[in-house]
Amino acid sequence: MSVLHSLALTRIPPEDEALRAEVRAFLAEAIRDLPPHVRARSWGGYSTSLSRQLGAKGWIGITLPREYGGGGRSAFARYVLAEEFLACGAPVGSHWIADRQSGPLILKYGTEAQKRWYLPRICRGEAFFCIGMSEPGAGSDLASVRTRAVPAAEGFVLNGQKIWTTNAHHCHYMIALVRTSGTAQDRHKGLSQVIVDLSLPGVTVRPIEDLSGDSHFCEVFFDNVALGADALIGAEGQGWEQVTAELAFERSGPERLFSSIVLFDQWLACVRTPKWRSASAQRLAGKVLTQLAPLRAMSVAVQEKLTRGESPIVEAALVKELGTTLEQFIPAAIADDLFARDAEDIPVELLMTLKYVTEASPSFSLRGGTRDILRGMIARGLGLR
Ligand SMILES: Cc1cc2nc3c(=O)[nH]c(=O)nc-3n(C[C@H](O)[C@H](O)[C@H](O)COP(=O)(O)OP(=O)(O)OC[C@H]3O[C@@H](n4cnc5c(N)ncnc54)[C@H](O)[C@@H]3O)c2cc1C
Repeated sequence: MSVLHSLALTRIPPEDEALRAEVRAFLAEAIRDLPPHVRARSWGGYSTSLSRQLGAKGWIGITLPREYGGGGRSAFARYVLAEEFLACGAPVGSHWIADRQSGPLILKYGTEAQKRWYLPRICRGEAFFCIGMSEPGAGSDLASVRTRAVPAAEGFVLNGQKIWTTNAHHCHYMIALVRTSGTAQDRHKGLSQVIVDLSLPGVTVRPIEDLSGDSHFCEVFFDNVALGADALIGAEGQGWEQVTAELAFERSGPERLFSSIVLFDQWLACVRTPKWRSASAQRLAGKVLTQLAPLRAMSVAVQEKLTRGESPIVEAALVKELGTTLEQFIPAAIADDLFARDAEDIPVELLMTLKYVTEASPSFSLRGGTRDILRGMIARGLGLR
């Protein structure tokens, strides 16, 4: 039971909670005209101008040190921002990855020059990053990546392919997990992380359309891309350790609980009206909220561990697995509730949001590591494997 015991309940400090009202008021104005089915995309949605505005407010890179343009605040401050962005359905996808994991990764492993070059631009909402981990044939089995950066006189020559790279077509940089020595059979050895400027000659980015008609992820091809020596982030050969630590940031946040929250709120507003009120709707609302509250508490507890510099990989896997299960339950349960009602009473805008979230929901338990892989990690963490 070590994993569960290690998640001590914790509260977001008042000085960080104080951010909430300001963010909420700002977003109410900034995204006033966005309809709910667009808001439902939230951290999958994309708005360069909103990212710039949030950067100007100091709400990107809020945990990064002030000397690099950040806010010098705790992970709890970032947590409050993230919750408010998600709850309002703000299209924050442009800077989401840079803020959540590329910035902290560069801070932890980067050279002084890398920190000074990338971090201030991340904080201003001017440098967007994507994650280059998955490849065809190397998703769950990430250690078998084949994309290779061969050391050359001036740095590295990069060849290979990444896939499912969220927002690569809108990003300036990718942090890619690549092989710098050995073969795919060497598994965790010989892997490194490199920062790839996606505007370099030899990089081709092709968007992939998903079930909902959105093109948010891409294939990315590297054909003899010349990288400088300063593309290497962290130590050569330490890529596996670095990526594993990064996954705790990727898996534990509120975006693993709140992907269906815009839909849930919209439905809740309907079932609160006298015409729609019903015992079954009350039971459903209670069921969702009584699961959401403890899951949120667990997610906040993981933030506390990240704040202390720990790497709670198993705990983060637990939050993601339970959180995405709830995220997927919400659209299915709301569809059942609406099915029992008179079709003519159902607002079209609610149906549009339900359609989008239903189509997107299978991906909730795939992105960031699949359910099966997370359950395997949790079982190992509990000493069951
Ligand atoms: C919306 C979305 C966004 C994404 N964004 C990114 C991104 O930005 N960057 C990035 O690098 N990747 C991204 N991904 C890719 C994602 O991380 C992979 O899809 C995921 O890790 C699974 O890999 P795969 O698709 O190769 O499936 P596979 O690994 O081939 O898995 C296929 C099935 O087999 C199961 N399986 C595989 N191995 C095992 C095992 N050992 N035990 C039990 N079951 C197993 C899996 O659970 C799954 O059900 C994204 C995916 C989605 C859906």
